Amino acid sequence: MRKVVIIGSGCAGNTAAIYTSRANLEPLVIEGLEAGGQLSITTDVENFPGFPDPIMGPDLVQNMKKQAQRFGAEYKGGNVEKVDLSHRPFTLWVSGEEIQTEALIVATGASARWLGIESEQKLIGHGVSSCATCDGFFFREQPVVVVGGGDSAMEEATFLTKFASKVTLVHRREEFRASQIMLERARKNPKIHWITNAEVDKVYDVDQKEVTGVRLKSTVDGKTWDYPASALFLAIGHVPNTKIFQGQLELDEDGYIVSAGGARTNVEGVFHAGDVQDKVYRQAITAAGAGCMAAIEAERFLAEHE
Ligand code: NAP
Repeated sequence: MRKVVIIGSGCAGNTAAIYTSRANLEPLVIEGLEAGGQLSITTDVENFPGFPDPIMGPDLVQNMKKQAQRFGAEYKGGNVEKVDLSHRPFTLWVSGEEIQTEALIVATGASARWLGIESEQKLIGHGVSSCATCDGFFFREQPVVVVGGGDSAMEEATFLTKFASKVTLVHRREEFRASQIMLERARKNPKIHWITNAEVDKVYDVDQKEVTGVRLKSTVDGKTWDYPASALFLAIGHVPNTKIFQGQLELDEDGYIVSAGGARTNVEGVFHAGDVQDKVYRQAITAAGAGCMAAIEAERFLAEHE
């Protein structure tokens, strides 16, 4: 029997582990399949307060883990396959093992959405990326393609103009979901070229193990044509990792946990932290702050129910 289990080991989960371990709650952190979360696939982090020089994402998240371990947090590899939140103690199944806990912090984050085509999947890390902030730097003076029509696509395309020789934004419709201000800013940028009513349906060149271009397909008449690019950035949204909570926690139409105020969920004793609930800010520092809030709330909850 555990006092508190934290699911997820990104910024939110690790911060919750630091706070709960310092409160003597001996937390167990289930690391998940993508241990370290989104920071583990990031390069330089320049906006985390307290680091005047850039720190590598994996180092930052590893430091957080070490910090939590110093106060007694326990880490366990593997993924939570199933949960039962219908009564306390809550039950989790991790690699077939059953774990019970009085309080639960859900910090499972969100994963980037991909197009799902085979050539794209094969070239992830070889010119196909879901993070312009992480990988834009590698494509200095080269042409790149960004896919998406939301705020992320505008932000990433604008950011990429700092490095790339040309940024082509490909969107499947004529209308954009992005906010007016972000769309305008991108529209004003002379380095951004626009192709609407088109999708990427193939990425070249799997054999060369690098991106040399994409095949575009018109969403109007289905015609295809090749377009040169050294990188493909997907900015088509994120999917929260909440599958195991369906039917147990209140989720919104996109699958994000609905907050019941502060870090609380609709189930008493279950708290949320980080991108699993936040589709707006999605920053390392906001996730860390949310991890702190969840830990403090879990601590208060346990004190009240002792
Ligand atoms: P989003 O608003 O859901 O936009 C996703 C875009 O990707 C849409 O244009 C969608 O096209 C397109 N898309 C989805 N699946 C696709 C597919 N399979 N093939 C081609 N295109 C596809 O996601 P987001 O841009 O990541 O934004 C998420 C949230 O974060 C929003 O609330 C946004 O305002 C916020 N955000 C804010 C900022 C900021 O304020 N600085 C920055 C980034 C994000 P359709 O439009 O045709 O569906």
